Amino acid sequence: MINSRDVNDLHPVVKEKCLNFIKECKNESIDVIITSTYRDHESQSHLYNIGRTEPGRKVTNAKAGYSFHNHRVAFDFVPLKNGKAQWDDIKLITRCGEIAELCGLEWAGRWIGFKELLHCQYTGGLKIIDFVAGKNIDNVA
Ligand SMILES: [Zn+2]
Repeated sequence: MINSRDVNDLHPVVKEKCLNFIKECKNESIDVIITSTYRDHESQSHLYNIGRTEPGRKVTNAKAGYSFHNHRVAFDFVPLKNGKAQWDDIKLITRCGEIAELCGLEWAGRWIGFKELLHCQYTGGLKIIDFVAGKNIDNVA
C-alpha cells in the first residue's frame, strides 16, 4: 500500500510545479510541507472505506482510480508556523492556494461543493475519466 509524500513520485511536470510552489511560498516566508503525492489503488480504497465500511468520518469521495493522486498529478500540502502545521489557518492556506495558482496549478480551495483547501493538481485539462481511460498529461502536452 503506497501513500507517498515524496515529490519524486509525482509526474515530472507536476513535480516541477510543486517544487516551484514550495519555493514561491518560501519567498513569502511561508514554509509548506507536502503531506500526500501519489497513492496506489489499495491506499485509495483504504481512504474511501473510512466513514463507510470502516469507522471514522468520510475523507474522500474518490474510489480507487478516481482520485487525481492515483495518477501522480495531485498533491496535498499544509503550511507551517513556527514548525507547526496550520490545518485551520484559512487566511494562510488561502495565500498558499493563490501562490499555487500563480505557479500554474489548480487549487481545490476554489472548487464548488467539495472544497479541498489543502489540495492542488495539474491535469492539463484532462478529466478524471480520461486518466481512468489511460490518458495522462503527456498526451496533451
Ligand atoms: Zn488531495
